[in-house]
Amino acid sequence: MHNIDIEVVEMTLDVMKYAISRITDTSPTLGKPKNEEELYKLVGETITSEGIGGEKAFKLFKDILLPATVPIDHPRHLAFVPASPTRAAVMFDLVTSASSIHGAYWMEGAGGIFCENQAMKWLVSLTGMPEGAFGVFTSGGTAANLSAMVTARENWRKDAANRNKKGLVIASIGAHSSIKAMAQVIDADLVLVDADEAMTGEDLQMSINNLDASQRERLFAVVATGGTTNAGIIDDLEGIAQVCKKEGLWYHVDAAYGGGALVADSVRHLFNGIEKADSITIDPHKWLFSPYDCGAVLYKKPELAKEAHSQEGSYLDIFKDEGAHGFNPADYQIQLTRRLRGLPLWFSLATNGIDKYKWAVERGISLAKLSGELIEKRPELELVRPPSLSCVLFKRKGWSPESYTNWTYNNHKEGIALVTPTKWRTKDGYETVIRFCFINPDTSAKDIEVILDTLKK
Ligand SMILES: *Cc1c(COP(=O)(O)O)cnc(C)c1O
Repeated sequence: MHNIDIEVVEMTLDVMKYAISRITDTSPTLGKPKNEEELYKLVGETITSEGIGGEKAFKLFKDILLPATVPIDHPRHLAFVPASPTRAAVMFDLVTSASSIHGAYWMEGAGGIFCENQAMKWLVSLTGMPEGAFGVFTSGGTAANLSAMVTARENWRKDAANRNKKGLVIASIGAHSSIKAMAQVIDADLVLVDADEAMTGEDLQMSINNLDASQRERLFAVVATGGTTNAGIIDDLEGIAQVCKKEGLWYHVDAAYGGGALVADSVRHLFNGIEKADSITIDPHKWLFSPYDCGAVLYKKPELAKEAHSQEGSYLDIFKDEGAHGFNPADYQIQLTRRLRGLPLWFSLATNGIDKYKWAVERGISLAKLSGELIEKRPELELVRPPSLSCVLFKRKGWSPESYTNWTYNNHKEGIALVTPTKWRTKDGYETVIRFCFINPDTSAKDIEVILDTLKK
């Protein structure tokens, strides 16, 4: 299977042909899941002693399995946080695989890590973090948040008094589920600040003041959100920065979704204060048009991340030799062996230039504004709050939670759109509402109208 024969040549051509047609497809079919038994009945056993052959396996994949997936870049896929990797980025994902580069250490990956670092330098510049700040690409926002929280905790535990204490982190109720999950991974307690919209510096200060003495001793980090996933709300990053400074706390900003908007001049001011963060999470695979998976963690003082994450091992010692010196991505996050997952972003940035990124992110923001206007013109619909970043929350008057679920399933079943409901808190408790999240710049006003039309009486 490592030989090159006519079958390998043919398979290469088939795969490339498929890749070209998918990369250039502007209206992929909106696939939908089937249950596993159903898929098994259609596909059968694929792993056998003899192998079923690439041709058959690929055919099964294309004809049966692929239609049971949702293309993340469908222009009417507005659920969760969709994605829309640029064509250059997707093509370079193929190149990244074909190039077989180990991305953990400069010694093996120098040329590729150089490219990643160019893209990282640009990301850091968007944040306005001070000289010396730098970061590394991770598998996603979850891994970035975990890497930052571990760095924060290890830094806190340098003080012998904290060595055996269980840590405590404060975030807002709008924080992403991964913050809760990763606090569990590092066995830290989490206090959630109950803020209706953005968490402010005052909210944070009050929450700190309300901690009992033992909790206050264990508090080591605050996580602010730079664009909540549910509604696009940006915490008061400046106010929170000041409180963190005054209280001597690690200040992390989770901008996994919203971070892309740092490039958009129209909303950049909403992120003021982010430059004071000790660490920041940004997911290029969300709003910076990278293919999965590509997250990023940025540190004000990368040397603190290195102290927390650098792995020791005698078989790794060779990498410390003269000539192999350079930036080792493995030293700044939780993963050792890694794909050069920043390469697609680098190639797309180099190909397209920053201005096109500005345009494409602004486009998502405009689509959200436009949706707001279109919703307000329709008597059966009601905006829940003004669109924020690229998120829009609205209601269909008179609908029960089940009506929303049925509507979602019907639209998906008919191949019209994938839009899912979410919950939003009002003075009467949590309500079911519809949520749009725009990423794909190819989504059109017509696409929005098509979806809104399915909500008519
Ligand atoms: C999506 C998201 C995450 C998790 O990122 P993954 O890439 O899915 O691991 C974390 N925080 C926020 C704010 C997000 O939007």
